[in-house]
Amino acid sequence: MARTHVIGAGLAGLSTAVSLARAGHAVTLYEASGQAGGRCRSYFDARLDCAIDNGNHLLLTGNKSTMRYLADIGAAGSLVGPASACFPFLDLRTGRRWRLRPNAGRLPWWILDARRRVPDTSFRDYLSGLRFALAGADRTVTDCVGDRGALFEQFWEPLAVAALNSPVRAGAACLLWPVLRETFGKGEAACRPRIAGTGLSGTFVDPAVDLLHRRGAVIRFATRLRGVTYRSAEARGLDFGTETVTLEDGDSVVLTLPPTAAASLVPDLTVPEESHAIVNAHFRLSGPAGLPAELPFLGLIGGTAQWLFVRGDMASTTTSAADDMVDEPPDVIARKTWRDVAAALGRDPDPLPPYRVVKEKRATFAQTPAQARRRPGTRSRFANVYLAGDWIDTGLPATIESAVRSGHMAARAIIG
Ligand SMILES: Cc1cc2nc3c(=O)[nH]c(=O)nc-3n(C[C@H](O)[C@H](O)[C@H](O)COP(=O)(O)OP(=O)(O)OC[C@H]3O[C@@H](n4cnc5c(N)ncnc54)[C@H](O)[C@@H]3O)c2cc1C
Repeated sequence: MARTHVIGAGLAGLSTAVSLARAGHAVTLYEASGQAGGRCRSYFDARLDCAIDNGNHLLLTGNKSTMRYLADIGAAGSLVGPASACFPFLDLRTGRRWRLRPNAGRLPWWILDARRRVPDTSFRDYLSGLRFALAGADRTVTDCVGDRGALFEQFWEPLAVAALNSPVRAGAACLLWPVLRETFGKGEAACRPRIAGTGLSGTFVDPAVDLLHRRGAVIRFATRLRGVTYRSAEARGLDFGTETVTLEDGDSVVLTLPPTAAASLVPDLTVPEESHAIVNAHFRLSGPAGLPAELPFLGLIGGTAQWLFVRGDMASTTTSAADDMVDEPPDVIARKTWRDVAAALGRDPDPLPPYRVVKEKRATFAQTPAQARRRPGTRSRFANVYLAGDWIDTGLPATIESAVRSGHMAARAIIG
């Protein structure tokens, strides 16, 4: 029976393998590290004496490929979030709090209601968002919506930096439009925020690994692909250092690796080469904390931390496009971000609680117009070698949704 060799067990690799295994295909999944999940995983942190996520991950209910993946692995119920779409914000400079509340249905009348929209904005300001629909491939976010004003500071900038993990002056406008179209453009039901209820691995990873085992897939951890042998227009062998796998006729390979790793294994492959950092700080509080209205997260304007997530006695912050900050010592980062958390939760800024700073230097590729043009499609120039990963040309920013969709695209190309 023809076998598909999926290399890399991040969400792109897992979604490829799950789709193929569910369709009855023989699958072997190889992962260089000792656990699955890649950039979206949980692990035990000895200093905090609990499991933490490598970074906070926020989804929206309109992320339809991810929702399908979670349903496929039986984990749809493990996401948590408000019953209706609501995005709470705090301006740390003024102490002002507000909530963005899109309405049901496609007609966005929430922009007409001052209690639902961003403070100090008028509905006319929001029409600037339509410029994303027409933005050419060379346009940046600020080319479309400018770089000042209440709506820019309190909506476009936090949204674009989070979605594109790039500074707004460089971020590709054409990548933001599909996000708007697939979520805000579809109304309240498509933009309910969701986070993993008990951690990233429990939601996105472990149920997938269990399903793959149940479906007879082979999973090999601590197995790094080091080279691929090609003959004419096909891959013929996989070199894992201590062992070599010969590819039989009909076998396929799906590389779901970070872009530079894929480029080192596929001759003449063009990939995005630049990346940006994300820094997360996790604080273990003395007792459970809550945010207003039981919401599990809060957008922060005007601080070091951009988003705050609270789960039980853990408060965690995210700072995207954090290249200026990523080389600072962890205690400096922890002090700066704790100041923001303490203000948001109404806690004393001293003493600093136990913390862990997680720096992901290459969190995603730099989502600029120039780098976005370097995204390849699902098929490589070798007939039996396919590509997946959040950096593949899905049309979406490099997010869970892009990673999972790229896996679905690769599986569809193989299944035919
Ligand atoms: C801190 C942080 C916060 C984020 N926040 C969000 C968010 O809020 N919302 C959102 O949607 N997205 C978010 N993302 C993005 C999301 O995590 C990624 O888009 C997604 O996890 C990428 O999955 P992937 O499978 O494409 O890549 P990866 O997760 O990088 O998977 C690649 C896998 O390949 C393995 N590998 C590498 N080389 C080899 C080799 N030679 N042989 C075998 N295996 C190999 C790696 O170990 C890894 O497991 C965030 C990312 C980070 C880092």
